[in-house]
Amino acid sequence: MKKINDYIEYIEPSQVPLSAAVYLIKGEQNTYVYDVGRAVESAEILSGIDKKVIILSHYHGDHVENIDKLDYKQLYVGDLCADTIGKGRIVPDVLKLNDGVELIIRHCPSVHVGGSLILTVNQEYCLLGDVHLHRATFDSATAWQMLAVLKRVKCKYFLVSHGDRLIIPKEELIRQLEEEYQ
Ligand SMILES: [Zn+2]
Repeated sequence: MKKINDYIEYIEPSQVPLSAAVYLIKGEQNTYVYDVGRAVESAEILSGIDKKVIILSHYHGDHVENIDKLDYKQLYVGDLCADTIGKGRIVPDVLKLNDGVELIIRHCPSVHVGGSLILTVNQEYCLLGDVHLHRATFDSATAWQMLAVLKRVKCKYFLVSHGDRLIIPKEELIRQLEEEYQ
């Protein structure tokens, strides 16, 4: 596990098996987990943590496959993810949770896949999952809707789920995506 600050840690992503980063946010009562990954190691670490509230970014296996191996207090998902994994509470447009940390879960249009959830923590970090990772073809209207949401999110840094660089300043990623979509 790697530490970002006093309240956010993460399990690193892997390529083989393809497994997304798993983020853990320490609240006063609960530990909030954003994505559970596919790697066996991620499941083992998560199994050792009590009082988990799990949020799944989207339904792809590299983000959700460990879910059947885990106990949790609550599981928040988007609609497509609920259909795929057959469980979870579907998040309304925006869901705010306060537990010593301020968490905001919201739906975000995505060039990656529909039904994606992003998570803002203490107006400092916003966890994106794969919302910004576009396929070979993508709908440019969706791309601009997504950018509009990402611009409005209050945070300094985006945290992404794959690659060597997981922490990206908000302005930098927005600029990069605007260039890609032009
Ligand atoms: Zn992924």
